[in-house]
Amino acid sequence: MQVLIQLSYIVASILFIYGLKMLGRAETARRGNLVSAGGMLLAVLVTLLNAELSFVWILVALAVGTVVGVLAARLVKMTAMPEMVALLNGSGGIASLLVGWSQYHAVRSEVDTFTSAAIALAVLIGGVAFSGSLVAFGKLAGRLPGRSIQFDKQQIVNLGIVGAIVLFGAIFIVTPTNTYVLLMLVVLLALALGVLAVIPIGGADMPIVVSLLNSYSGLAASAAGFVIGNNVLIVAGSLVGASGLILTNIMCKSMNRSLANVLFGGFGAVTASSSGPKVEVEGEAKPINAEDTYFLLEAADSVLFVPGYGMAVAQAQHAVKELADLLERNGADVRYAIHPVAGRMPGHMNVLLAEANVPYEQLVEPEDVNPTMDTVDIAIVIGANDVVNPAAKEDSGSPLYGMPIINVDEAKTVIVLKRSLKPGFSGVENMLFFKENTRMLFGDAKQSIATLVSEFKEAVAA
Ligand code: NDP
Repeated sequence: MQVLIQLSYIVASILFIYGLKMLGRAETARRGNLVSAGGMLLAVLVTLLNAELSFVWILVALAVGTVVGVLAARLVKMTAMPEMVALLNGSGGIASLLVGWSQYHAVRSEVDTFTSAAIALAVLIGGVAFSGSLVAFGKLAGRLPGRSIQFDKQQIVNLGIVGAIVLFGAIFIVTPTNTYVLLMLVVLLALALGVLAVIPIGGADMPIVVSLLNSYSGLAASAAGFVIGNNVLIVAGSLVGASGLILTNIMCKSMNRSLANVLFGGFGAVTASSSGPKVEVEGEAKPINAEDTYFLLEAADSVLFVPGYGMAVAQAQHAVKELADLLERNGADVRYAIHPVAGRMPGHMNVLLAEANVPYEQLVEPEDVNPTMDTVDIAIVIGANDVVNPAAKEDSGSPLYGMPIINVDEAKTVIVLKRSLKPGFSGVENMLFFKENTRMLFGDAKQSIATLVSEFKEAVAA
């Protein structure tokens, strides 16, 4: 039986890795999810064959988890996904902490150094991931102040806590038998560290931190795998840990910020008012109405949609797809340029566009579309701001300088759909709005697109 179980774990691990690889491409992502889920189902089923388990407790937990999961998946809105992910990470963290704790309880009179080290790591990383994720959830959900909360000598307090964890953890690892107090101290300090490390981070930077905490929850699970000697948990935890770190790195790069700046800089460090010099506005923003926009679009051969956070706020994705269909029927080549940090969470735009059934092959990455931007007749910017701000390449004093952007300013004509001239997340003025080839279609993005759709339909009917 043991051989069968271990072989099944290897198959499950291969399915995880294969599924993860498939998640890297939009066309295969759905299947990748299923493949990974299949691996998890296999791992769960063979684990149930494994030991003398209390099936009553497992069934109770399964019932509670299923009800909460189904309700959450149905009730949580797309814009609240980052909060939901934060809570899920927190659950992963507390699960690993509890596994470490309960295993210590079971073997505390005869625990070896390796196991005690794994237990210490599982409760430490799990504890930080749990309390840090709860704070992240609170900030994202608006239940805690979103701004950076800082107090005097905060870094010194944090360093002190880290020092105490290292000290108590080391003593626990070396003399683990029957030293419950030390383990509890590590747990409490880890929970405190999670809170103190996340409160100084501004709410809008939270998605990066959530990605990092996701990686921690994976590492904690991997440590828990060592605690109970479960290979599939070690592999799955390491995969989550590594992919979370890679994602965090990609997000930091796409925002042209270092992780240290996100973790210790506080959000204020990137706002224009506090860092970069004030941008001199040259020229005037030229408004356009829906009717004139329709005439421009009707004559266009190639149209590039560039969605951003405003599309998510307006929930305009279905209207955008409807407009895209009309444009295609009119003979235009339609594509969507997706910036990696458009919106407020990784993959935000991809998820919304997939929900509206936009074909994957029409999605293009900035580095693929930028070189041919001068062949695009009309770039329609839908509630995007920072990710199309030319200051990132033109203004070396700007906090955005160096951030890779979508060069819509190089398209023949740019139509920007937003409600005002206000800056986006970074607080930096956007000179795109004042460029010669830019027109501003002011208003709620969904409303504006719906008006364009009716213009098209009226023209067809006439
Ligand atoms: P921005 O936040 O820069 O701008 C969004 C724009 O949407 C605003 O300027 C706003 O203008 C407009 N808007 C809001 N509501 C509506 C509406 N109903 N209709 C039309 N427009 C609307 O968005 P981007 O997507 O361009 O950039 C994302 C930013 O978030 C980047 O700075 C990125 O670094 C940051 N970020 C992204 C993360 C991610 O994982 N994706 C994580 C953390 C940060 P107005 O008020 O005038 O309408």
